[in-house]
Amino acid sequence: MAAIDSSEAPDFDVIVVGGGPGGSTAATMVALDGYRVLLLEKEHFPRYQIGESLLPSTVHGICPMLGVYEEVQAAGFTPKRGGTFKWGANPEPWAFSFAISSRMAGPTSHAYQVERIKFDTILLNNASRVGVDVRQGHRALAVLRNGTRVTGVRYADEHGRERQATARYVVDASGHGSRLHHQVGGEREYSPFFRNLALFGYFNGGHRLPPPDSGNIVCVAFPDGWFWYIPLSPTLTSVGVVVRQELAARVQGDQEAALAAFIEQCPLIKQYLAGAQRADQEPYTRLRVRKDYSYDRTALWCPGMVLVGDAACFIDPVFSSGVHLSTYSALLAARSINTVLAGIAGEQRCFGEFEARYRREFGIFRDFLVEFYQLHADEESYFWQARKITSHSGASQEAFVDLIGGVSASDFARSRPAGPVLTATRGLADALASSAATGDGREMFSTELVSGVLQQGARLQMHGLLGEAAGQEPPMFPGGLGVSPDGRRWATMSPASG
Ligand code: FAD
Repeated sequence: MAAIDSSEAPDFDVIVVGGGPGGSTAATMVALDGYRVLLLEKEHFPRYQIGESLLPSTVHGICPMLGVYEEVQAAGFTPKRGGTFKWGANPEPWAFSFAISSRMAGPTSHAYQVERIKFDTILLNNASRVGVDVRQGHRALAVLRNGTRVTGVRYADEHGRERQATARYVVDASGHGSRLHHQVGGEREYSPFFRNLALFGYFNGGHRLPPPDSGNIVCVAFPDGWFWYIPLSPTLTSVGVVVRQELAARVQGDQEAALAAFIEQCPLIKQYLAGAQRADQEPYTRLRVRKDYSYDRTALWCPGMVLVGDAACFIDPVFSSGVHLSTYSALLAARSINTVLAGIAGEQRCFGEFEARYRREFGIFRDFLVEFYQLHADEESYFWQARKITSHSGASQEAFVDLIGGVSASDFARSRPAGPVLTATRGLADALASSAATGDGREMFSTELVSGVLQQGARLQMHGLLGEAAGQEPPMFPGGLGVSPDGRRWATMSPASG
């Protein structure tokens, strides 16, 4: 397979639309491979965004690959060691800790609660630093085409002047409000099951759980839906309520009154907010509403164009999967672009790999969330449900933590410190050995997923010991593509094909 014809001399190798976590990740991973990247962002950063509770996979997997690990750790974000839920049949709140997962042991057993206004700016500035041509105040209007292939973008610059730029690939990372996503074909399909809306705002002076859970996200179910309660700093708390869209009328009128009424119905949140005041610092003074945010797409890419993050799909905020899915899909897209541009494998094969891995990760969260929303079950059922869906080999609660930590994908090994990587491999081996010895793991061993996990475990151990010298990582799917030692490209295991 030859590299894409360079005689057309496009203005850029890649144009990324949107400077959120998905756009910054895609742009940085492509620029780090030596390609010319233009990123168009309609706002001027720092800009507000919802989605403040991160997962460990973003912090310890994506951030090191981007080169912002130290900067994020030094930014003063609230460490998030797990979650506290009042959900299901159990009348008492119950907590999980990322530390119980062997895949996230030791220094990687936390994420952060972040003010997105700061986190997204760190990622976007870093993209500039590695050579991405970042243009803020530039709004993409439409894509350019040559037949069925997308070849560039028409955009308005910060003075409103219309311009255009060509590229070998366009990445749409412009979020849920994307005006471009339909250009890849297919449909955006809204989930009837998760037809909810969210009403959210910020408080100063809310209650904090005692350490070590003080940075936990708290999710509290009540008859009309559920609340999130995210400690962003020792004093600032993000509070949101998710309710069925049938209750929209109550929210559309006086939002302040609606939020106060929902808080009144939820004793735990009411107790946590007793003595707290609505935030008086920008951009946190006003309430906001989001709806129609749970959707999938029947197509995720077409020749010359790929969708990542919320432009492609999002499911529900309860497990804080949005930034994880956005940055993970951006990593998969960047690998595909880098591999095609290098002439290592063809577009169909690379983007097929992108789509398979992306749909797998999204599907695991979606299927588990459907079960999690069955409010009459107790928390033990959720753990077992996670086990069923991920075909996980470890203890049921560990499966739950892996799922909501975003490490089910096993794509993040290369950027984690050696200690936990080795621990993860040992933990997996122990779990497999003991279940084999007791005879209750036969079914587990027969699944393709587990054989992939086993290969991945061996790969992790080698990588922990040898770093990049360990060589390329084997495929996740039979006949699929592996990953290059630096994590930025796919690696072919068989002769390259289109
Ligand atoms: P975005 O962050 O939306 O970034 C898109 C960027 O594109 C924006 O900066 C926008 O200005 C820019 N843009 C848009 N159109 C154009 C254009 N035409 N031209 C140029 N630029 C453009 N996720 C979590 O991980 N944790 C949570 O706790 C969480 N809570 C949530 C709560 C709610 C109620 C909702 C709805 C979502 C939540 N999410 C959460 C999801 C999270 O907000 C998103 O998944 C995440 O922000 C997606 O990142 P992105 O980079 O794909 O898109």
